Amino acid sequence: MPLKIALAGNPNAGKTTLFNQLTGARQQVGNYPGITVDHKEGFTLHNGERITIVDLPGTYSMTAYSAEELVARDYLVNEKPDVIIDIVDSSNLERNLYLTCQFFELGVPLVIALNMIDVAKDRGIEIKIKKLEQLLDVPIIPIIARSGFGKEDLLETAVRTASKNKRWSSRDISYGKDLDMTLTELVSEISEANFMTDVYPSRYTAIKYLENDEQILEKGRQNNGEVAEKLENIVSKTTDHTQKTLDVYPEAIIADQRYGYIKSIIRQGIEIRTFDMDRLYASDKIDKVLTNRLIGPAVMFLILFSLYQFTFSWSEMPVALLESFFGWLGGVIENTLPDGLIKSMIISGIIDGVGGILGFVPLIMFMFFGIAILEDSGYLARVAFMMDRVFRFFGLHGSSVMPFIVSGGIAGGCAVPGVMATRTLRSPKERMATLLTVPFMNCGAKLPVLALLIGAFFAESKALYMFLFTLLAWVVALLAAKFLRVTILRGAPTPFVMELPPYRFPTIRGLLIHTWERTYQYIKKAGTVILGISILLWALMTFPGLDDQRIASFEQQRQETLSSFSPEAVADLQIGRENFSEETKALAGKIRNINNEETETALRNSIAGRVGGAMESLTGLAGFDWRTNIALIGGFAAKEVIVSTLGTAYSMGEVDAEESTSLGERLKNDSNWNRVVAVSALVFIMFYAPCFITVVCIARESSWKWAFFSMGFNTVFAFFAAVAVYQIGMFFQLG
Ligand code: GDP
Ligand code: MG
Repeated sequence: MPLKIALAGNPNAGKTTLFNQLTGARQQVGNYPGITVDHKEGFTLHNGERITIVDLPGTYSMTAYSAEELVARDYLVNEKPDVIIDIVDSSNLERNLYLTCQFFELGVPLVIALNMIDVAKDRGIEIKIKKLEQLLDVPIIPIIARSGFGKEDLLETAVRTASKNKRWSSRDISYGKDLDMTLTELVSEISEANFMTDVYPSRYTAIKYLENDEQILEKGRQNNGEVAEKLENIVSKTTDHTQKTLDVYPEAIIADQRYGYIKSIIRQGIEIRTFDMDRLYASDKIDKVLTNRLIGPAVMFLILFSLYQFTFSWSEMPVALLESFFGWLGGVIENTLPDGLIKSMIISGIIDGVGGILGFVPLIMFMFFGIAILEDSGYLARVAFMMDRVFRFFGLHGSSVMPFIVSGGIAGGCAVPGVMATRTLRSPKERMATLLTVPFMNCGAKLPVLALLIGAFFAESKALYMFLFTLLAWVVALLAAKFLRVTILRGAPTPFVMELPPYRFPTIRGLLIHTWERTYQYIKKAGTVILGISILLWALMTFPGLDDQRIASFEQQRQETLSSFSPEAVADLQIGRENFSEETKALAGKIRNINNEETETALRNSIAGRVGGAMESLTGLAGFDWRTNIALIGGFAAKEVIVSTLGTAYSMGEVDAEESTSLGERLKNDSNWNRVVAVSALVFIMFYAPCFITVVCIARESSWKWAFFSMGFNTVFAFFAAVAVYQIGMFFQLG
């Protein structure tokens, strides 16, 4: 006869998983005779011996309440497997041991498989296995059924236990003074009459009688009516007694005592929670301050403001270094490559375009590092929690906070994951309102634009302005949401619950990984999408170029200028001694002016220049010249392109080569730009149509109707806002 092992345990404890691990494909699935409850039998080889494995139905107890329970119990008493493996979910120890307790009563040879120790570990629960083994007096083997960890050890132990315990002997658990006395009486009657002792241990029968177990009572009556009546009389006297004194039936007392038995064991330091309560407690205390109705928001503003301060002050030097590096690189190429289209493309298209974006990598990196600290420490969840109060007022949901933050609510996110993050919102209207307003946040692509213009025009307090523009994004997004929620998306708010995980110290490793992941995304985009768009826009700004006649006329102007100066000055200029004498300087200046006029005429004549120029009469209301228009159109492809296109446009039409250090400097010195234009441009850039990728994403998450709506609505709104800023600003001469 092969050894027979039965697997028993609570539903979802992992029986089937273990069964499959042990038996592999060698199994049969069928129903227990007469009842439609799964019956699986398979076999495994252990040390060359065939062992039969049976998967019993999962049950929480062994009473007669359900078909599964009866099947499991009948199988055990009728088939008498050699050993039972009780699969216990270690992340739910207390509940699972209730069934174990009943196996003790039945007296079966038992081995406990302590399953899901991986889950328990993740939840911070450590189980003292040796100690539990001693207290329960049963072998316990830790396993992970899913991976098969511990299964050999388990089989080995099961086989050993099977060979040791040939007879079943139930274990005495005390059920209190009253019941214990009755049990003793019942057991002696049962043993004396050999009442069903071939099937059940006497104590087990006695317990079942006390529990008023219909199935056993019935079997007893059939087996020996006389003894059965005697037992039933004893039980009914006890039942009367417990009813009178405690107002409960014996079965309730028995259940209570079983739980008490388990509790007394677990209380003895069996479960160590590594999520120590002190930390939870400390978190509560910190939260008393940090999420306090008054202090909380103040601290939040302080922390966020420090984040900007930190980012801008620490990144200043590396940004300047990178900028000068790209300046140097452009110079090297200027001096090595021959004049022509290739050179123009490399300098104006690639270096000024992509370099302009890569120049902001340090800033982005510091910003992401700061955000990673907020996120990893658990503070970001508090920010969401506090913002929830504000959000309700604007018709949004607490869960809208994360999409906003992901989109760049603090700075440097991306609306694409932001739009996707709105999936967590259940109410369709709240979701649409969130989805349509998250693109207003200052995403990572808008950051370089903000940094560029703030750096050029508000250099004295960069962090403050950055902070103000972030606030502005929020105010506009919330007002727009409110507007949508009282017009086309009208409807009642839905309730909100939010988890606040305990605070933890971020690890340096975690911070670096998070920072790098996001920074890398940025760099990758600069090297791929942006590079392509940069080159495309360069082409649009280069072709069709000037006709021969115009070129000849500029050439003629140059020749005339040269011949009006002395030959010495011309010679100096030709060997690059521009500052040798006053005369050479004057000559160099004149020639430069002619060159600039030529490139500017060419740019204006280009495809992009014509489009930008055609729009000037309209965009002039907001202070944008045709070059800015080109950049704004390019920005629809990706907002990063705005900086690179401005870089290209302003490097092509340089006003004064000597002053042309960085794009910021160039804008500052350009007569079309001033502080008012900078703010007007920022307002427009922050709020106009989401970039192309975001629009596609909105369409995918809702419909093209909404995607077009967001493009139209945002652009119209942004334009009116920019016009208002420009007109008011110029009226008060704030530029
Ligand atoms: P049964 O109801 O007792 O048959 O339980 P199952 O075998 O169906 O398992 C219930 C769930 O727990 C399944 O999703 C299993 O993949 C999972 N599971 C089982 N054992 C483990 C384990 O050791 N670790 C983890 N993480 N999951 C497990
Ligand atoms: Mg199962």
